[in-house]
Amino acid sequence: MTENIIMDCHNHSNLSPDGSNTPEEMVKRACELGIKYYALTDHLEINKFFDEEYLYEEPVRKASEICPALCRKYADKITMSYGVELGQPLQDMPLTNRMLDSYDYDFIIGSLHMCDGWEDFYELDYSKVSADYLLGLYFDEVLEMAKWGKFDVLGHLTYPLRYIKGESGIDVNLDKYLPVIKEIFSTLIKNDMGIEINTSGLRQQLGVSMPDAYYVNLYKELGGKILTIGSDAHCTEDLGKGVAECVKLAKDIGFTELTFFNKRNPIFIKI
Ligand SMILES: [Zn+2]
Ligand SMILES: [Zn+2]
Repeated sequence: MTENIIMDCHNHSNLSPDGSNTPEEMVKRACELGIKYYALTDHLEINKFFDEEYLYEEPVRKASEICPALCRKYADKITMSYGVELGQPLQDMPLTNRMLDSYDYDFIIGSLHMCDGWEDFYELDYSKVSADYLLGLYFDEVLEMAKWGKFDVLGHLTYPLRYIKGESGIDVNLDKYLPVIKEIFSTLIKNDMGIEINTSGLRQQLGVSMPDAYYVNLYKELGGKILTIGSDAHCTEDLGKGVAECVKLAKDIGFTELTFFNKRNPIFIKI
């Protein structure tokens, strides 16, 4: 038992194309680790929904049966939410609306893994495309997502750095994006939405959370209150990793509460 793992609100099972374990294996492991608040948030990549390679319709439907049943089955051991990581929601709005009308998610992470018309940041060759140009597109599209507003927390802000800085070793300076990042935070705050601290960067080459302490602090300074923490585990081994470190990061910045979502409502948890 690790008593510091208060929550893990970003996780993938094999209902995601890149996940390894069944939903139940993930939940069982979360219980073993003593995680108190847990959300399974399998991928729903709107712009890849109909791709032969992915075909999201069936796993998304399966999740809607399996996850609520697991929430009930393990209710005496863990507080669990049925979540989703909604990728690129603006890139096919009719489909996004259909999905949000069809499923009763407890918790929605809004993420941007690829800019409109581009491949995922992990697939791009940064010796051929300008990282700066893509970062500009990325923050602009994230801002549009925040304005649209139909999710609960913004997933892993600074995600492109995992690949640009972490894996390609390109040192980019985000100073010029500070105005748009501030606008993203202000818009989320105005819309009663929040951010997550995604711990996966800590166990990857990037070496820091997404976003890192500087941006979490900026979010707090602008009045941000809604903050979740998630490992972005794609297998049981990564569950809860980095959470204790990021709880400390949040506390050091002055947060006294984290947020967990149930039925799309925020529940504040003292840290
Ligand atoms: Zn993601
Ligand atoms: Zn994820």
